Parts: sequence; C-alpha cells; structure tokens
Amino acid sequence: MREGQVSEVSPRTTLFPGATQALREKLATACCILGSEGHNDIVYGHMSARSPVAERFWLKGAGLGLEEIGPTDLVELDLDGNVLTGTAARHLEYPIHSEIYRRRHDVMAVVHTHPFYGTVFGAMHARLLPLTHEGTLFVPPSIPTFTLTADLILTPELGAAVAETLGSHRALFLVNHGIVVVGTGIEEACVTALLLEKACRAQIAAQAAGEFAWTPDEEALRKRAHIYTPGAIQQIWSYHCRKLRR
Ligand SMILES: [Zn+2]
Repeated sequence: MREGQVSEVSPRTTLFPGATQALREKLATACCILGSEGHNDIVYGHMSARSPVAERFWLKGAGLGLEEIGPTDLVELDLDGNVLTGTAARHLEYPIHSEIYRRRHDVMAVVHTHPFYGTVFGAMHARLLPLTHEGTLFVPPSIPTFTLTADLILTPELGAAVAETLGSHRALFLVNHGIVVVGTGIEEACVTALLLEKACRAQIAAQAAGEFAWTPDEEALRKRAHIYTPGAIQQIWSYHCRKLRR
C-alpha cells in the first residue's frame, strides 16, 4: 500500500461516501489477495468493481503490483474510460471491464490477470474438465477462449468482442495472454479467480502425468451445489482476508 496519496473526489461520488470507501477498501483487499495467491505478474493484471454511482466502476491503478494496492491506488472510470476520480494512471486494458459492465448487468466485479497456470491453459486448446472440486465451479458447461487476438485489449471494440465471447459464463481464457473472471460481487470474482487457477494447475499436472479421470457433468453440478454455496464463497474470502493479515 502507498501512504500519503490523496484521491480527488468527484461531486457525485460524495453522494455515497460510506459505500464508496467500503468498496475501495474491499477492492484493494481483493487485489492484494490475488497478488499473493498466484495472480501477480509484476505490475500487470487488474481488478475492478462497479461504483455505487451508475455506469461507473473503480479500477486498480496502473504501475503497481496487485499485492501493493491500497484504497488510494484505484481510479473511478465511466463506461467510456474517462477517469472521474483518483490520481493513479489508468490501465490500458480498461475496455475489458467497461464493455463487460455495459453488457452484463449481473456482474459487479471483473478480474483480468495473467496467472501462470491459467495463462498456460489458455494456450493449450484443451477443454477445462472437473478433475478437482474447483473444476466443478466452471464445468459444465465449459469456459470459452477468446482467440481473436493475443494482443492487449486496448479498444472498446476488442473489449466488446471479449464480452461477447464471455457471454453468460463466469470466466474466459484470453489465448496466449491470461484470464478474465466475473462475479456478482468483489468476493465472488476474487475467489472464482483463485479457484480457476487451481483447476488449471490440476489439469496441467494430470495431463502431463498421463491418463486421468474427471467428474461426469451431472455429478459435477451436484458437487458445485454442495461445495460452492454463497456461504462457502464468503468463507473462502474471509480465510484469505485473515491470511493476508497474518
Ligand atoms: Zn492483460
């Protein structure tokens, strides 16, 4: 975290000062958890959350690692990418976030990172399978892979294409690049990103070892319902918050 940095506060943000501060603190915590749990890639990768003000979102500032982020290292953007609040630099790939928020009204938080196993898996042209508990969160049906480009997602047009490929899924591989995960809240998006990385790691290890078994679709759906309840997601989040403080 950086001390002494003061964000400018836009007039409309002051309509929700308590909610905005709580959101910024939670988003910064989520960035730190991601950075400490396999999603760190120097200063690359970012997470965002919808602002209490409509059609705006808070995004991790550029130039710092995920695990370095504090509440003042975030910027508030509108869906056209204009910076409305905050002094940090804007990540170039903001259109991933803005175009998903534009299309998915159920999405309250978005993660885009370059975790090692998730990024390798996205290059493999393999279908993610439920080998472990974590895999059942994603399969069935499957996770799509965005293959239009391996380059950065720099324009609203490319962001829109990513959002279209994501469809109603909770995660997406960006070929030769990284992952995108969405959630109905900051906790869910963060935890889902951690679980995706473990699912990818398990399958890469299993494929390297040889033949392996995976859970059939019907049973995988039952496992998902048993294991990944909203309460369980909150427990996993709370565990990581405690771990971060230790
Ligand atoms: Zn990227």
